[in-house]
Amino acid sequence: MDIFLFIDALGWDVVGSSGYLGDILPFRREATMQFGYSCSAIPTILSGARPAEHGHLGLFEYAPDRSPFKRVAAFMRLLRPKSLWNRGRVRGWLSRAVKRFLGFTGYFQLYQMTAEKLPYMDYCEKRNLFVPGGMEAVANLADELRRAGISHHISDWHLGDERNLEIGIAKAKAGVDFIFLYTAELDALRHDNATPDAFAKVEEKLAWYRERILRLVEAAKSSGKPWTLTVFSDHGMTPLTKTVDLKSAVEATGLVFGRDYGACYDSTLFRVHYLVPGAKEKIRKALAPFAGDGHWLDENEERRHGIWRADRCFGDELFLVNPGVQIVPSDMGLKPLKGMHGFDPDDIHSKAAIMSTKPLPDWVHGVYDYFRLMKESIDSMAGCR
Ligand SMILES: [Zn+2]
Repeated sequence: MDIFLFIDALGWDVVGSSGYLGDILPFRREATMQFGYSCSAIPTILSGARPAEHGHLGLFEYAPDRSPFKRVAAFMRLLRPKSLWNRGRVRGWLSRAVKRFLGFTGYFQLYQMTAEKLPYMDYCEKRNLFVPGGMEAVANLADELRRAGISHHISDWHLGDERNLEIGIAKAKAGVDFIFLYTAELDALRHDNATPDAFAKVEEKLAWYRERILRLVEAAKSSGKPWTLTVFSDHGMTPLTKTVDLKSAVEATGLVFGRDYGACYDSTLFRVHYLVPGAKEKIRKALAPFAGDGHWLDENEERRHGIWRADRCFGDELFLVNPGVQIVPSDMGLKPLKGMHGFDPDDIHSKAAIMSTKPLPDWVHGVYDYFRLMKESIDSMAGCR
């Protein structure tokens, strides 16, 4: 029985020097994060593919030709008044209504995407990534497990951490061959508690996970089967140092969104599509004052991060802000969060962590290697049958 527990945002910044879970999981190392956000890391963990291959970088993508939101454009126009859009409860309700109407099964939130911009946007997580056939471009973990025909369990992300860990403990007790558990609450907690004075809250949550992990270990032992446990994460959390308003700078050029340029403003990444000659020069000039806050990625960097695509679907150019800086406002939020991820993978707070009861192969360097580790486990169990 092999158990893999993915704790979102359990970065090397909180487990490296503290020795967290070192008594249970002695084989540990830092891992390079997958460039992007959880919406790019999760598909990479579930498929081993990089964003260039699986196509998931930001949740929204400027793609008017493919926008599913055109079907809800008339409905959205009714909700033009910004005061209405900005109410959290209204946006939550609206996100659920749009999701249901468009038949999305994946994680969906409108965030701060406006009614005007939505018809120009595609959304990368239309399907539930965790189920068979969940990823359009590549096979995923659920496909591999089904093919192998071994007993298995994959967490349902609709459920909270408590429930998912309780189910995991029950599955381990029952001796299910392959268990993949996913928890997301530490990520939300760390976004709101990234300063040193708030670290007690993070430590409280870490203690909470530890207690469940100890029970998971006891359950695995009680199954009577040989077992392993590997805990991994996708990134850490970088405290806020500064905000930059790239949007106002771009809009001050007089260029028209959807006619002259297309853009997505993620929390740390500005992705721009140039639609007319001269747009590139104007936007580059508008962002020149922010040269100390970030930089335009070159092709080598994009290739190194696994996000370079010939079709430029992620943007003709990408501007990444420095660790600690947040783009505010963005399509994700109108206010900064105390902590953010999605910076350069080499930033000390960006580092992910992998920890196991068994020695880790030398080739495990980054988040993109976790899938191979899980696939080797699946293949060896399938081969034993
Ligand atoms: Zn997050």
